[in-house]
Parts: sequence; structure tokens; C-alpha cells
Amino acid sequence: MLPTIALKIDVDTFIGTRDGIPNLLRVLQQFGIRATFYFSLGPDNSGKAIRRIFHKGFLSKMLRTRAPSMYGLRTLLYGTLLPAPIIGKGFPDLLRSVQQGGHEVGIHCWDHVKWHDYLSRFPKQTTFRELDQARSVFEGVFGSPARTSAAPGWTVSPDSLEIQDSMGLSHCSDARGTDPFFPIIAGRRFSTLQIPTTLPTMDELLGENSITLETINDQYLQLLKPGLNVHTIHAELEGNALSTTFVELLQLLIQRNFRFATLAEVADEFRADAPDCELGMDYIAGRAMPVAIQGCIA
Ligand SMILES: [Zn+2]
Repeated sequence: MLPTIALKIDVDTFIGTRDGIPNLLRVLQQFGIRATFYFSLGPDNSGKAIRRIFHKGFLSKMLRTRAPSMYGLRTLLYGTLLPAPIIGKGFPDLLRSVQQGGHEVGIHCWDHVKWHDYLSRFPKQTTFRELDQARSVFEGVFGSPARTSAAPGWTVSPDSLEIQDSMGLSHCSDARGTDPFFPIIAGRRFSTLQIPTTLPTMDELLGENSITLETINDQYLQLLKPGLNVHTIHAELEGNALSTTFVELLQLLIQRNFRFATLAEVADEFRADAPDCELGMDYIAGRAMPVAIQGCIA
């Protein structure tokens, strides 16, 4: 297999949708790269993420990544001092233009902050409603059901995986890990293929081990594997304040003859041989909240 990279683009916010998506579409078109976009479709409650200040590591991460300048002040106030704008219904033509540009499109969530912070405490009905509202807006925009989803903040529960299994999805990208797999939690196997993110995100790397914007792409080159790599970027970061560094990374990957694939293409290539693996929530470097991590092969 050629060295391969799949770009998974999480769109978390209203501003990331409005400004980050068009910027990323321009960059990707310029390089002839197709990627996989996951949309947040409900209210942008980003301001409420300030609740995470009570989690160890959140404040230091906010300061380390200069979140106020990266995300912009409005985003940090949505859902608190400013009303939460509903994202999906505001940009149907823009979302369709992503698919028309040849990219894969899928569901990130209805309410990103609510899912990320409270999924483990949701009754099953709430988990269902969050996914169902996103599913409904997605179908309204694209005229056909989503084939893929990716959980906010790599946050899953047995309920979320069960509901995703019932949605007829081809594949999900909810976890961190090394290779595509079928997840097992507490002995229970789920039937939707998981394609994990294999690389740390830029906001996780920045500030860790003295990594800066000047050295971060060298770090990525060291972390890349010869086979499949899945890199999650954020429309509000790489499509905005971190765009220059991201464009440099794309140039480096092209120079090194990396093949770019969508997650749908990865699913087609890996499904038949994908193993069953444990999936559990745990902490990783650079992230304040636990994430779903692929365990050893069952
Ligand atoms: Zn997200």
C-alpha cells in the first residue's frame, strides 16, 4: 500500500462552517485533494465549553493553544452571552457545495458541546435524539441518508454505538487508534466499521514538548506511518488561524508522494480484513477530556 493519508475534517462551530469550510474547499481544490467532512448541524453552544474549566488540563490547554485568538470571541460566547445559532439550517448550499466538490460528507453531531460534555450521563433516549436530529437535518440538506458519522471529541458510549449501528452507516470515525476495526465494549461487538484517527491533532501537539507552529510539521513527518494515516483537522482552526501551517503540511505530504483517500475509500479497502478490537475511554496527552481509544486486538 502506498503511504496514505485520509483527512478527517471536523466542523464544530457556526464560524467554522461559515468561514472555515470555504477556506478549506479552496485549499483542497488547489491541491486536488478529496477529504471527509463531518458537520455539526444543531446549535453552536461553544461558549458553554467554559464549564470544562473544572476539568484538569482544560484551562492550560485553552491558554496553550491561545483559544480566544484561535476561535474568535464570538464563538466563545455562543450559548452564553450570545444566543446559540443553529448551524445546519443556515448553510444548506454551502454544505452541498462540499459534496459537489467531490468530498465525502457525514454527521458530526447535533449539539457538539452537549454531546462532548454529557454523553456518558445521557439516557439512551437523549443520545438517540441528538443523533436523530442531526440525521434529519443531514437528509434535508443532502436528500439522502448519511453513510458515516464521527463523534464529537471522540466521545462514545455503548448507546451511541448501538444507535449508529441502527442508522445503516457504512463506517464511523469515533476513536483514536492505529487501524480500522470493529469495536467491542464489555464483550459486546458493534457492527459499524470504525476508522480511527491515528495522528494527534494540531491543538494537542502545540505546546507539548515545546512544539511550536514552526516545528509542528516536522513532528507530523516523524509520526506518519508507511501505511494508513488518518489526520483530524478542524474547520475553525486549520481552515482559519492555522491555515498557513496546514497548507505547508499538505505540500510536504505531496512532496513525499502520499496518497490522499476519503474515509469511504479507506472503509472499502480495509473492511474485509478489519479485526475486532476493544474500545474504551481514556485520557491522552494534550486533551482535557477522555477519548475513545482502540485497544489491543481481541
Ligand atoms: Zn468536533
